[in-house]
Amino acid sequence: MAAWYYIVLTSIVTIIQSSYGTSIDYSRILDSAKGLQDWIVTIRRDLHKIPEVGFEELKTSQYVRDTLASLEIDFKHPVAKTGIVGSIGSGEPVVALRADMDALPIQEDVELPYKSTHAGNMHACGHDAHTAMLLGAARLLKEMEGSLSGTVLLIFQPAEEGLAGAKHMVDLGTLNGVTAVHGLHVWPGLHSGVFASRAGTIMAASTRFHAVVRGQGGHGGMPHLARDPVIAAAAIVHALQPLVSRETDPLDGAVISVTRLSTGEGATNVIPDTVEVGGSLRGLSEQHFYRLIERATEVMTKAADMHGCTVEVTWRDPPYIPTVNNLEMVSFVEEAAKGLVGEDRWQHLAVPTMAAEDFGFMAYAVPGAFTFLGIHNESVGSVHGLHTPRFQLDESVLHLGSALHAALALQFVSGRTQVDMDTVQSTLRDLGNDEL
Ligand SMILES: [Zn+2]
Ligand SMILES: [Zn+2]
Repeated sequence: MAAWYYIVLTSIVTIIQSSYGTSIDYSRILDSAKGLQDWIVTIRRDLHKIPEVGFEELKTSQYVRDTLASLEIDFKHPVAKTGIVGSIGSGEPVVALRADMDALPIQEDVELPYKSTHAGNMHACGHDAHTAMLLGAARLLKEMEGSLSGTVLLIFQPAEEGLAGAKHMVDLGTLNGVTAVHGLHVWPGLHSGVFASRAGTIMAASTRFHAVVRGQGGHGGMPHLARDPVIAAAAIVHALQPLVSRETDPLDGAVISVTRLSTGEGATNVIPDTVEVGGSLRGLSEQHFYRLIERATEVMTKAADMHGCTVEVTWRDPPYIPTVNNLEMVSFVEEAAKGLVGEDRWQHLAVPTMAAEDFGFMAYAVPGAFTFLGIHNESVGSVHGLHTPRFQLDESVLHLGSALHAALALQFVSGRTQVDMDTVQSTLRDLGNDEL
């Protein structure tokens, strides 16, 4: 996207916003959120102790429901097994705030008073923080419910990690009638307290494959009497790489990583019958991503055939589509972030990340924006990557996440932002930018 699109459209949104009176008191939201910091931290720690993987978030879901009930917030449950949709205010517009609740099958390797009590499971992607921050926002918004003109949906979704919980919720109609959806992810690659996002694609499409290469095993000293699946698997590893280096536009990011290659536990003087190959395929544009999946299957089949073997390829279903942020929603995030933490702690991301998110399904269904919240802080040890056993969170930022959620909701339901989406969308079309 050309920079001038961004400038022009940001101006349009600003003009539309400014024509509708009341501005949002960001410092008041921030002060109120600061007042809830200890409450939010307690929730995060409670959830951190009970990490549950996708669609098994029973205790977590119960905890969220108990908290919503204690705040006298109405909610629907179950939505997609363990999912919950809370509601504050009434009528239109409807703005949705989303948090994911699931953990990862990782053994935590950090000594904390509130470390995981579920052996083998860990909140290593910060979803405990996401849930706690959204509950913080819920409490802030509930306190002003009487003055809201519209509805805030609080979406607590299951199964972000690989099982597309967001898609399940969208398919169940959770976003029907919703004007905008916002999501937040803690991000170790950014300094604590920095908000960052970008218009257009922010996260990649992603899928995984598992291939079983079948040949005919035999004696390692008599390969001519066998059909060697090891040679076929090696050919597959090599054949996949040119799909990125030779068939993908260098300016259109994609990656194929073969991460599993297994001949089993047989004796080393025996040619096995089968070899397992597995890996990850990601791309930034949806169209190219699906073509790569087709080509990868084709190439694996031909490479196996070349060596007298067959291959059975299974792709994870559904693949995650790219997360594509809506331009005007990002302009709202930028305004709110600058209003809350100042210009210095807002960062416009120059490039997307090849990590993936099922929030993409929500942002595909309605205009949405996904925002990163920095948690990198050496003084508290939050320097390890997401999905690692030593991942730690800088809890001092939690109230900022609650404040951003609340501010983004208020942009729609405070009576200020009667944003004419039709006008903005038609302007987008006039500019010829159909990528957004
Ligand atoms: Zn994750
Ligand atoms: Zn995550």
